[in-house]
Amino acid sequence: MSMYRRYNYRAYPTRGQREALSRLYGACRYAYNWALDQRELMRRRHGRMQSCTQLSGMFTQWKTNPGMEWLLAVSSTPLQQSIRHADVAYRNFLRLYKAGRTHIVTNHHTGKKRRTGVPRYKSRRDGEQSAEFTKSARFKVEHVDGCKWAFLTLPKIGRVKLRWTRELPSTPNTVTIMKHADGSYEASLTVQVDDKTDAPKPLHEACGIDMGLGSLMSIVYTDGTREKIPHPHTLKHKTRRLRKLDKQLAREKKGSNNHAKTRLLKAKTYGRIRNQRRDMAYKLAFRVAGENQAVALETLNVKGLARTRMAKSLLDANWTRIIDRIRQLGVQYGRTVTRIDRWYPSSQICSQCGHRGGRKPLDIREWECPNCGIRLDRDWNAALNILDAAGLAESLNARGGDVRRGLAQAGRNADACETGTHRTVSLH
Ligand SMILES: [Zn+2]
Repeated sequence: MSMYRRYNYRAYPTRGQREALSRLYGACRYAYNWALDQRELMRRRHGRMQSCTQLSGMFTQWKTNPGMEWLLAVSSTPLQQSIRHADVAYRNFLRLYKAGRTHIVTNHHTGKKRRTGVPRYKSRRDGEQSAEFTKSARFKVEHVDGCKWAFLTLPKIGRVKLRWTRELPSTPNTVTIMKHADGSYEASLTVQVDDKTDAPKPLHEACGIDMGLGSLMSIVYTDGTREKIPHPHTLKHKTRRLRKLDKQLAREKKGSNNHAKTRLLKAKTYGRIRNQRRDMAYKLAFRVAGENQAVALETLNVKGLARTRMAKSLLDANWTRIIDRIRQLGVQYGRTVTRIDRWYPSSQICSQCGHRGGRKPLDIREWECPNCGIRLDRDWNAALNILDAAGLAESLNARGGDVRRGLAQAGRNADACETGTHRTVSLH
């Protein structure tokens, strides 16, 4: 079986190329918004929609109208792709609408009403700008072995320099060239690859993972070891700087040069946070999926939790991305990834005797089971319960009750603790 994978590289376009790209992004936005408009018009007038091919044909006609020459000056493939993306967005919306899953919300400040899920127009002011080229655009990637730079040739843009950080396994199918809010460029290439070709050898048979606010991950392994991975707190470190920039922005006049400069600085700080978070999530997911043949996780209600006052530390924790990445790698490496229902009371049950105590406030890190008297660590106990619920604890149980007890017990004197905690993963 083969699948698509993305390979991203930082791109360094020249000044001329940046101008050409900016024109291309403008045209792509125009095509996207145009397609949304056509869809809506057609639906209102006739109650039905054009196919994506029809829309593409209409756009090709539209480009020949007087005053539309600027659309002819850029490569046509990214424009067709934008129309395709608008088509997908609109179809997704209609599907939700028909299923009755959209509703009308009112903006408290402006009093404006809008329906949720309606695809939005793309704007020049959006932080992210992108254009996608397919194979039919005949783009080209050239790299000389051992060289730290590569060249990506795009029609009507030219040869764009890429920082070559890893080898491509084969010829890419599509390339998306993106501009981020901080002004940096990135090329994202999709490549068809055979899966399971580069799966690392697993170290552990199975593990159970509890994700929490105390530590990012608490992991118990069936061989009797355990470990906690601390939160990286990327955002926290940068919050002070962001707050300072916000104050500065408030003082500066809108539209002034200094205002624009501060805005760029702010975007750069956010860009750095974004990169660090992604890097952290990918490294951690790679380790978890690489080291374990089977992984048990909890399904989290991230959106629900994000509404509470823990929102910032939670979103910083990057949970959804880590879990998604673990699942993705799990498929790639042929691992079993089991997700436990989020209503499963993993932190209420004693993993040793099965006694179910009530809910505990989040600040209680350790608790004593009233039934068997063991002092439990909240996170490790939950992780062990998750391992149980996934049906993966068999070989652990075969190791005997002492090993099992050690896994969930609070305190550093527990045998299992030592092997685990010394292995720390660098998250930055
Ligand atoms: Zn108990």
